[in-house]
Amino acid sequence: MPQAKSRILTGDRPTGPLHLGHYVGSLKSRLELQEKYETYVLIADIQALTDNFDNPQKVSVNVYEVLLDYLSIGLDPKKTIIAVQSAVPEIAELTVFFMNLVTLGQLEQNPTVKTEIEQKHFKGGIPLGFLAYPVSQAADIAIFKANLVPVGEDQLPMIEQTREIVRRFNRYYGQVLIEPEALLSKFPRLPGTDGKEKMSKSLGNAINLCDDAKTVEKKVRGMYTDPARVHADTPGNVEGNPVFTYLDALDSDQGIVEELKTRYRKGTVTDAEVKERLIKILNDFLDPIRARRASFAKDKNAVMQILADGTARARKVAAQTLAEVKHAMGMDYF
Ligand code: ATP
Ligand code: MG
Repeated sequence: MPQAKSRILTGDRPTGPLHLGHYVGSLKSRLELQEKYETYVLIADIQALTDNFDNPQKVSVNVYEVLLDYLSIGLDPKKTIIAVQSAVPEIAELTVFFMNLVTLGQLEQNPTVKTEIEQKHFKGGIPLGFLAYPVSQAADIAIFKANLVPVGEDQLPMIEQTREIVRRFNRYYGQVLIEPEALLSKFPRLPGTDGKEKMSKSLGNAINLCDDAKTVEKKVRGMYTDPARVHADTPGNVEGNPVFTYLDALDSDQGIVEELKTRYRKGTVTDAEVKERLIKILNDFLDPIRARRASFAKDKNAVMQILADGTARARKVAAQTLAEVKHAMGMDYF
């Protein structure tokens, strides 16, 4: 069945508060896309469990927190369907069918999974669920027949894997599913405050959308800059310096940023001065987000009802796709 308009699917793992990396890498484009497209956003609690199976409470508590983050940045439940993964069991069913369309070798060679396994130091072996999370992510995307997936760079191998699974499915069983495309933002991998290449919830190097002004100030003051710059009058490196990357991403006055860069390269501005600018920019950006968050947080039941409604709508679409999948496979017996 041809779709009337493009469909977007994205999501986040409820493993902690959303941060600036999420905003510039994915959330910002969701805000723009929700105006034009049918947008689905999935809170991927089952995926979060794959490396937090010993702490399910961490996951369940963060479902609400991530939902608040969404609402506070301006995702509009009238335009964006927000759903929680575990309450759409059709996704798990499709995952089982997809398991046959992927080899163990493909999963083991996925570069993002490889990096994450190195970072996570699983005690007692790698959970099968973790190794296979790209398969469940493929089902997340395919079940909503999304054709566009706004993601950060680390997710490109997942989209490629999804495309392969969809191609194989359609080849074996008939043209049912849509091959999605990734949509990368201008800042597909925001570095961490520690200078590591990716800001991440799990690495403790994030500035969160819900951080208060004092916390932002503290985190920015402690940020990694150019390690070779011992004195303020030493010419400094702007490239690979996360303070400047954040300014590039969020300062609307790029003229000032260019001037600071020139002075930094010449050694005529202190790290502290550049950080002051960043603190102001971040707190100005976060203030309205904080205000909306506080206002939504006054009524937790109403917020959870938004998720319940979105999940019910998402489930209808998922059930329809699953019915088509089963029909194509000749497994619609009754
Ligand atoms: P975790 O450490 O638990 O995996 P995370 O910080 O990587 O958390 P996810 O929920 O896995 O966040 O990612 C959600 C989305 O945000 C993905 O599309 C991912 O690519 C994007 N994203 C996450 N971190 C960044 C970042 N630092 N820069 C750009 N995009 C990012
Ligand atoms: Mg991640």
